[in-house]
Amino acid sequence: QNAPRIAGRHFLQIPGPTPVPDRILRAIAMPTIDHRGPDFGKLGQRVLDGMKSIFKTKSHVVIYPASGTGAWEAALANTLSPGDKVLMVETGHFATLWKTMAAKLGIEPTFIASDWRTGADAAAIEAALRDDKAHAFKAVCVVHNETATGCTSRIDEVRQAIDAARHPALLMVDTISSLASIDYRHDEWGVDVTVAGSQKGLMLPPGLSFNAVSDKALAVSKASKLPKSFWSWDDMIASNTTGYFPFTPATNLLYGLDEAIQMLHEEGLDNVFARHDRHAEATRRAVRAWGLDILCRDPKYYSSVLTAVVMPEGHDADALRAVILDAFDMSLGTGLSKVAKKVFRIGHLGDTNDLTIVGALAGVEMGLGLAGVPHQAGGVTAAMAYLAETKKGTAAKA
Ligand code: PLP
Repeated sequence: QNAPRIAGRHFLQIPGPTPVPDRILRAIAMPTIDHRGPDFGKLGQRVLDGMKSIFKTKSHVVIYPASGTGAWEAALANTLSPGDKVLMVETGHFATLWKTMAAKLGIEPTFIASDWRTGADAAAIEAALRDDKAHAFKAVCVVHNETATGCTSRIDEVRQAIDAARHPALLMVDTISSLASIDYRHDEWGVDVTVAGSQKGLMLPPGLSFNAVSDKALAVSKASKLPKSFWSWDDMIASNTTGYFPFTPATNLLYGLDEAIQMLHEEGLDNVFARHDRHAEATRRAVRAWGLDILCRDPKYYSSVLTAVVMPEGHDADALRAVILDAFDMSLGTGLSKVAKKVFRIGHLGDTNDLTIVGALAGVEMGLGLAGVPHQAGGVTAAMAYLAETKKGTAAKA
């Protein structure tokens, strides 16, 4: 017996993958072309240039047919040598995974500890770099938006910390869940390698990932001794000069990427960021009205991409998520490793609008009731009041 049909669209409110807009789905559905033929070169060139505008860089962008984890490995493997020391910051689950990967690759990470409720502490980074008189640290690696906690680190401050310590380490930043959702400036912030993925702010399915590479990182890569072949920037960048790839690229995802870049520019990146800021604030107002805690304890680091909500003592976040999925066909993000079952995550990124957010919050509020989680009503009302209030100017202009 098949499960009964569920009407309407599934609410995919996890912090990535995000719902893929119809325009992008249609673009992806185009016939696959010869990746060595004349049309492909134009597409390749367009998406490589387009991604530079998203990273806000004039230097190199590399696109891998891989998930974000692959682009993490590429960042490390292209720049470092066995035994190199790197400084990493424990913002949460994803920072921990990146650190574990570094250790597996034969790199020696030093991990600045945190309680998973805040962003990277630039002062702690500066202190560690000042202590490193011999310049043993070859890179500082920071996750911009920690998807497990809903805390966004200040990359401009991290840059200033490295400069203040007069340290030559590369700055490598994971923007897998922030790029095209939260303001990001690869060149202006002096980032050497930015890592990104397709399935979050870029509104694509999973399957593409990126490195934006500064000239300094490219120069350093020439002396890097970690083994690499598939991930090697050299072959990619050489091939990319004419819009082609050294191996078979993910042609149809690149069609989707081309469309996504166009859509982001049609809306305007600043408007995209402002939309994410508003939806995040509406969500936080709902959470506070319910009387629940936001995992990120310092407003300076609030994420515009997701909000992790702390469950009342004795209540299981995954049980609540199961009730909401069953009753309202909505997926919320699970708590990862250290915060498993203690938090659930509301994704408010990608192709979202005011009514998607209100719908998602309504699903959470009704779910809290159905699951018997102690809370106060009024979260959705608070979110709606904020969204309407901040929409007033726009409506008057129309
Ligand atoms: N880094 C961050 C911040 C992430 O959110 C994720 C995935 O959600 C990853 C890295 C890993 O990327 P992927 O799962 O695409 O390999």
